[in-house]
Amino acid sequence: MIIRGEILSHSYQGKGYIVIKNGIIKKVQHDKPKERGEFIDAGDKLVIPGLIDMHAHFREPGYEHRETIESGSKAAVHGGVTTVAIMPNTNPPLDSIESINYVKKRAQQVGLIDILPVGAITKKRYGKDLVDFKTLAPHVVAFSDDGTTPQSFKVFLKAAQLARAVGKPIADHAEITELSGGSIREGKFSRAYGISGIPDIAESIAVARDIEIARYTGAHIHVQHLSTSASVKILRDAKKRGVPVTAEVTHHHLLFTDEDLRDRSPFKKVNPPLPRKEDQEELIKGLLDGTIDIIVTDHAPYSKEEKSTNIEEAPFGISGIETLLSSLFIIAEKYEIPFKVLLEKVTWKPAQLFNLGLKGDIIPGYSGDVVILDPSKTWRVNEETLFSKGKNTPFLNKTLPGVIELTIKNGKIVYRGDRID
Ligand SMILES: [Zn+2]
Repeated sequence: MIIRGEILSHSYQGKGYIVIKNGIIKKVQHDKPKERGEFIDAGDKLVIPGLIDMHAHFREPGYEHRETIESGSKAAVHGGVTTVAIMPNTNPPLDSIESINYVKKRAQQVGLIDILPVGAITKKRYGKDLVDFKTLAPHVVAFSDDGTTPQSFKVFLKAAQLARAVGKPIADHAEITELSGGSIREGKFSRAYGISGIPDIAESIAVARDIEIARYTGAHIHVQHLSTSASVKILRDAKKRGVPVTAEVTHHHLLFTDEDLRDRSPFKKVNPPLPRKEDQEELIKGLLDGTIDIIVTDHAPYSKEEKSTNIEEAPFGISGIETLLSSLFIIAEKYEIPFKVLLEKVTWKPAQLFNLGLKGDIIPGYSGDVVILDPSKTWRVNEETLFSKGKNTPFLNKTLPGVIELTIKNGKIVYRGDRID
């Protein structure tokens, strides 16, 4: 396969040709290559690496009414995402080799993208008994009890020591549950709207714990879905001191604020909650100065029934894997950030951070994961255009910039226009 277009990647920017053979990028060059084969002329359209999302929920096994590995994979390729780390809060959870193997087998049968399971930290994610780190380590990309975190310092400390010993990061959903409760971020809007608030210290105290445990153990602790200014500030300081911590932010935390909850939409109820304006400003600052390493979706699909209730009763979560790339265009414009800077946070950076191997760049030797998109076109987000079973997105019935025309995984077209191949 030979692709011609406007290439934008970590290693190559500008007009050029990509040759993909046997699923691997063989050449990237300015001049027409001599190879023959299927030719894709992208013209002036952008050719970027397949996106890497290090935080998604595909719900299988156990919650197939919300999403399956198949529907999640389809949603991913529709969003230009070719590698996805899936969280262990399934039923049964990914706390054993059996459930991890099940997920891997299903991912292989569907075969659209690379699915990287994240193993649980504790059995059943109850925060008490640790999983068998040694046995699970070769089969997982990280360990997390996402949805929650062990509340016991002792359990979390031991987990960090074991994770370090097996050479895998802990991805932590930083939340002190004793302090949380509530539906949206506590502040003037939670009071004005009369919706129960979650104080920001529920997150930042857990982040402080993570930093100190990373410093003490030397374990790589990756803080998930950062949402408060206080968290960003203490992380920035920790990174300056050389503590092995990294962090992520979701695209919805960069685009919506607590003020937007005036419509009380359950589709905007998410954990951690949408930030206050001052939190969002610090998140952007952290993204630009490297305090925040990557952008993720925290794709959390729910059925219509589950989200069809009031904001206090509804479950937390936004279906986000299909709106990530479009969101990057909006974020780039809103904050005057070069698109390439944001693109690195969903391609090159996650590949480096989690040692994913030859992915996330367009360079010879790397896997043939490529997305062709037209930034000048727009698309309508609605129940029909989303491939995910979860239609719970604040972008529903909105028009977004950036249309993905082709998603190529290992040199094979897996998404074409509005069709999955
Ligand atoms: Zn989480």
